[in-house]
Amino acid sequence: MSEEKCDKCGAGMLIKMGRYGKFLACSAYPECKNIQPLEKPKALDIACPQCKEGEMMEKKSRYGKIFYSCNRYPKCKYALWNPPKAEACPKCSWPLTEIKTTKRWGTVQRCPQEECDWEKELIPPVKKPAAKKTTAKKAAVKKTATKKTAAKKAPAKKTAVKKTAAKKAPAKKDA
Ligand SMILES: [Zn+2]
Ligand SMILES: [Zn+2]
Ligand SMILES: [Zn+2]
Repeated sequence: MSEEKCDKCGAGMLIKMGRYGKFLACSAYPECKNIQPLEKPKALDIACPQCKEGEMMEKKSRYGKIFYSCNRYPKCKYALWNPPKAEACPKCSWPLTEIKTTKRWGTVQRCPQEECDWEKELIPPVKKPAAKKTTAKKAAVKKTATKKTAAKKAPAKKTAVKKTAAKKAPAKKDA
């Protein structure tokens, strides 16, 4: 049972698995045959830059990946993998730009047009300080590990040597 309520009869909606992935079906079935997509497309309030009639929607693909596409699909097939921003490209004046976040490059605002290379850094990548921390931790672990083994081995050897030496020494004197 999902948290969604049927918009036709008010009964709870059940999550079902279908040919095209998960969807919501009314629990009052077969009296009510209402079905809904599991993830409702979210309107972004950004006009589609291609057909200029539709609006960009946040959707989830069959494989759970979020993408952004025109609500006039299949009439307009404009789609982006990165969240669009209602800010025109200053270089080619394409009506929208996209926000792309990667571990390597941080967050950048870029032009989604293939023939345009406009890009602006918004948040620099945070990879470098994180990498330093992990190497520091690893080094510390290694050091303590070698200390422990060295500490254990060293006294054990010494006492063993002392004992044998102590045993041998009086024996020699007696003889
Ligand atoms: Zn229903
Ligand atoms: Zn469109
Ligand atoms: Zn551009």
